Amino acid sequence: MKELKDRIRKDGKVLNADILKVDSFLNHQIDVELLDHIGMEFKKRFENEKITKVLTIEASGIAIACMTARHFNVPVVFAKKARSGNIGSSVYTSVVHSFTYDRNYDITLSRQYLSSDDKVLIVDDFMANGQAMLGMIDICRQAGAEVGGIGIVIEKGFQDGGDMIRRQGYHVESLAIVDAMDPETGIQFRE
Ligand code: 5GP
Repeated sequence: MKELKDRIRKDGKVLNADILKVDSFLNHQIDVELLDHIGMEFKKRFENEKITKVLTIEASGIAIACMTARHFNVPVVFAKKARSGNIGSSVYTSVVHSFTYDRNYDITLSRQYLSSDDKVLIVDDFMANGQAMLGMIDICRQAGAEVGGIGIVIEKGFQDGGDMIRRQGYHVESLAIVDAMDPETGIQFRE
């Protein structure tokens, strides 16, 4: 998606060889018009799936999920990050290893909001090692819900999450794939 890649080139900050900051338009300050275009693009790419819910993980996925869901006319549900030990039986739960903070956390989703009647589009801001995605796929499996597709705004193609999830047979669409990045030389996108 050219508009997104241009924006990343203009406003993205390469912190180090692993972390790209896009706080000024995607996950701290939010450019709503860009997000609306991102939502439209996901709608186009998953048009043929009969999506009933858009699933993401708090916090930075929520805005993206909302702007996507309005184009599908379906609700958003988001997995909450929870402290271990604080979890009742009314929720689905899974464990995720955080790439950015290098620690494990639990995610939970109320059983009320996802069931075997659902076909789910999972969206997130970044895919790195795919651990957040594995947690959300696990929650869909527990609910008996079908994963209709996975939409990622920025995939870091030099980390193995995208390939790992595609090998499992999921339809993954990433709007920008970064093949390499460096604070000195900048960002190289996959064509
Ligand atoms: P994964 O679970 O795929 O290893 O990492 C994905 C999660 O880590 C995303 O939900 C995202 O919030 C965070 N993340 C991974 N890489 C980056 C990055 O380069 N920049 C930012 N801002 N977040 C990242």
